[in-house]
Amino acid sequence: MSRHYNFCAGPATLPTPVLERAQVELPDWHGKGLSVMEMSHRSPEFVSIAEHAEATLRKLLNIGDDYAVLFVQGGASTQFASVPLNLAEEGASADYINTGIWSKKAIAEGKRYLKVRVAATAEDNGFTAVPDTAAWDLDANAAYLHCTPNETIGGLEFEALPDTGDVPVVADMSSTILSRPLDVTRYGLIYAGAQKNIGPAGLTLVIIRKDLLGRARALTPSMLNYQVAADNQSMYNTPPTFAWYLSGLVFDWIDQQGGLEAMGELNSRKAGKLYAAIDGSDFYNNPIHPDYRSLMNVPFTLADDALNNAFLEGAEQRGLLNLKGHRSVGGMRASIYNAMPEAGVDALIEYMREFEKEKA
Ligand SMILES: *Cc1c(COP(=O)(O)O)cnc(C)c1O
Repeated sequence: MSRHYNFCAGPATLPTPVLERAQVELPDWHGKGLSVMEMSHRSPEFVSIAEHAEATLRKLLNIGDDYAVLFVQGGASTQFASVPLNLAEEGASADYINTGIWSKKAIAEGKRYLKVRVAATAEDNGFTAVPDTAAWDLDANAAYLHCTPNETIGGLEFEALPDTGDVPVVADMSSTILSRPLDVTRYGLIYAGAQKNIGPAGLTLVIIRKDLLGRARALTPSMLNYQVAADNQSMYNTPPTFAWYLSGLVFDWIDQQGGLEAMGELNSRKAGKLYAAIDGSDFYNNPIHPDYRSLMNVPFTLADDALNNAFLEGAEQRGLLNLKGHRSVGGMRASIYNAMPEAGVDALIEYMREFEKEKA
């Protein structure tokens, strides 16, 4: 078996030990004579898998009993509609922070269901820095404040939040959740598509403060209603059982690595090295203000775009996969989620140095 280093933004690389464990357990899970994929989601076996995954996640993120954890479907993109349908009455208004492409998508979808106020935008600086929270134009009557703490495409990340009083903060953490310690109590609702830092595609995580349940608009589809999901242990219909199981294995793996403190240290080291290599060269460039650089998604350009294809081909020959930047921004992007080993980042940096020497 030869595993290459996969820098894909999503679906992203998974920890090799998780895949190996899934492989061993695949045809016959724990001596039950069938695979997880073939189990009833209501069987005691699958219920134990589901409960274990939730318990481990709660431990990792230190999630209190005042929060519900929901395992839903439809990707983070469905949450762009679920959030307003569940948290805002018809005619209500919500504040959104615009930090890039995913914020914009959330804003566009939100506008279909409520009045959107853009309380702060990074558009003026080309999405290279996040406006200081003191300058956010917040509405004390907003149904919620929506933000995207890590912009997966632009590589812009921020942590600071203003005091929003009674206005719940909603965060799309698709590409940053579990990358470092997180104070869940600052948020009313956190959502994340699984395929970046959690597990395989097909599963979406929602962590919601329980007092925000039960507010959905009357016409909210049952499948999008958080209260319905909570009342049914996320099994109102058939959940994506295999993705849920595999995510549980990833949570176990993170726990074994030392939890989010250990992940945070590793991720800071990985990102620190890569940004240092970019900054230390005139050939590579990352435009993001150093205070707002993403730990997980590192976009960079080469001095000459005409070299992009040669760079990508050479990378692939060395087993460095999926470094092409998002089609909307071009250039390169290295996504270095939890499951990307430090050796993968080292190999990328070494290749970048050699390519520069050869071409610059
Ligand atoms: C990937 C991503 C999404 C979209 O996720 P889907 O699960 O494909 O809908 C939304 N927001 C952010 C920040 C992302 O990284």
